[in-house]
Amino acid sequence: MYKLTVIPGDGIGPEVMEAALHILDASEIDFDYETANAGNECFKRTGSTIPQETISTSKKSDATLFGAVTTVPGQKSGIITLRKELDLYVNLRPVKSYEGTPYLFKGLDFVIVRENTEGLYSGVEEYTEDGADALRVVTRMASERICRFAFEYARKNMRNKVTAVHKANVLKKTDGIFRDIFYDVARGYNDIKSEDFYVDATAMYLITRPHSFDVMVTTNLFGDILSDEGAGLVGGLGLIPSANIGDNNGLFEPVHGSAPDIAGKEIANPSAMILSTCMMLDYLGETEEAQKLEKALTDVLREGKVVTPDLGGSASTMEMADRVKKIFEIL
Ligand code: ATP
Repeated sequence: MYKLTVIPGDGIGPEVMEAALHILDASEIDFDYETANAGNECFKRTGSTIPQETISTSKKSDATLFGAVTTVPGQKSGIITLRKELDLYVNLRPVKSYEGTPYLFKGLDFVIVRENTEGLYSGVEEYTEDGADALRVVTRMASERICRFAFEYARKNMRNKVTAVHKANVLKKTDGIFRDIFYDVARGYNDIKSEDFYVDATAMYLITRPHSFDVMVTTNLFGDILSDEGAGLVGGLGLIPSANIGDNNGLFEPVHGSAPDIAGKEIANPSAMILSTCMMLDYLGETEEAQKLEKALTDVLREGKVVTPDLGGSASTMEMADRVKKIFEIL
């Protein structure tokens, strides 16, 4: 029995979460859910976008499923606070094209491993007389653990190559350290190929030869940008899951936001939330169950009959989820 924290959030968050839990109900694995609050609706009720209780519940559980939250300008971001509190230093973003979806390239299947705690998102920014400065922090410790995660991930998932992405020709010290540590770590993984590219070249290679990537590891800002480029390659926001992983916790969430424009209309595509659930099952070591769930979703996408309007169908969120559940049950 796994203990899960479920944070539906607001906007389409609760809708896609309900869809994912409806399917998970058919799993052979037992889950004990604890629902917790976060987001703008929570702020209106409690005065906090992420109450302490949510953070402690999440810390104590085996994994957290997160829907989506609306962050109002000027508010403290609930999800960023949670990622920090749980020290989720890995942001894992698969880039995979599924038949029946509006991808740009057929057969893409690679993963971006993004450092989630420092880099240019260190949060150290200050005004100067003439503008402002931001501090780019690259520590040996954080570089080592993210590169090690990338190689371990590659080994565990039968992937052959890890590509480090940086800009060490300009950011000689910060990215110099990142690149050197990448190759130090690579020496312990002779079974896996290693290579490195500058970030600008990588942005181009993602368009000209995206199939050449397998596992990519990079610093915070570059990872943020390249993962959105990756999302564009495989058909947009409704389809892209993500995992935030630390040494003691894992949090799984769709990449899309709370989509206020379609909230309450029951037309949100549940795929990103379902794929985030697959990533959670994989993280928990339930690889077979994760593969079954991904296959059920893949079948529904390929059929293209019971899918939401963004995929060209007319099904509601729950109708699509129910179709996935029916297939999941018989696999
Ligand atoms: P937020 O401020 O919470 O990030 P947003 O609207 O700026 O919200 P997203 O929520 O990511 O950003 O939505 C961007 C666009 O993609 C919107 O037009 C939205 O309707 C669409 N979209 C996002 N997620 C989905 C989904 N699951 N299904 C269908 N369309 C989606």
